[in-house]
Amino acid sequence: MFQIPSPITQLHFPLFEKSELKLFLKRDDLIHPIISGNKWRKLKYVLEDAEKKGQKHLVSFGGAYSNHLLALACAGAAYRFRTTAFVRGEKPEKSNPTLFLCSLFGMELLYVSRESYKNKQQLFSDRFGNMRECRFIDEGGTSLHAVQGCAEMIAELPEEYDSIFCAAGTGTTMAGIAKGASVSGSKCVIEGIAVLKDASFLEAEVEKIAPGLRNWKLHTDFHEGGYAKCSADLLAFIRDFARNTGILLDQVYTGKMLKGLFTLAEQDYFKSGSRILAVHTGGWTGLLSQQEQMML
Ligand SMILES: *Cc1c(COP(=O)(O)O)cnc(C)c1O
Repeated sequence: MFQIPSPITQLHFPLFEKSELKLFLKRDDLIHPIISGNKWRKLKYVLEDAEKKGQKHLVSFGGAYSNHLLALACAGAAYRFRTTAFVRGEKPEKSNPTLFLCSLFGMELLYVSRESYKNKQQLFSDRFGNMRECRFIDEGGTSLHAVQGCAEMIAELPEEYDSIFCAAGTGTTMAGIAKGASVSGSKCVIEGIAVLKDASFLEAEVEKIAPGLRNWKLHTDFHEGGYAKCSADLLAFIRDFARNTGILLDQVYTGKMLKGLFTLAEQDYFKSGSRILAVHTGGWTGLLSQQEQMML
């Protein structure tokens, strides 16, 4: 059901080839059409652990466009778990593609105010606290199990790279890849492109879930205005990338990551001859909300 190892493809862009940079893309977006990218890696051991503990009901949290909730809804259906999501904010007047698909897979959606959303543990215990079959899964799937799942990507790589780039939301995926690289003795640097504004707080978060690593680096200048913000330039980048490669990016994560990577190449950030692997962490359904903004 899952395409593991996910394929790696080389991308040929003049910007990279003129500085003799080799750019590769790890297509984690092809792991599964819905449980895609890093969300599959982050959930794999969480679901295994829930199964072991006899927890048949998965409860999690996210915004109205959460790729994590969509992955959880689909994985829950595939493995016969019940799923419930606390969704941040009022119920939208019109459904969106993400929530529509979550419902289609049978996920129960509970809309909660932004205020009460802040205390997730409270929301969980008020409603499910005395039910032993319920499993609390943090927003974005963040957990040590998720770090472990993401670390496994390193074992799939056929050769060494100088840098591995990924988008960083909670930073869990970057932490996991860095942990895997460190354990395997690789010299490669794991570079996260933060998609939120003022994201330097993420450094402490990464240190918390994967302590003591020195092989990662967070870039905080490529957020395009902040989480869920998006510029006309970014949409143009995504359009051109789609036309040049046949590969879809999303505007929340992978578009920002690759646009940031291209900007770094323009700024001569990389040593000539460097081998760079970008991880496509999936999430293309986010793009479905941009039809009107895209003006094709
Ligand atoms: C959730 C998500 C991320 C962010 O992963 P973190 O582990 O929270 O940093 C990156 N890319 C895509 C496509 C995602 O859906």
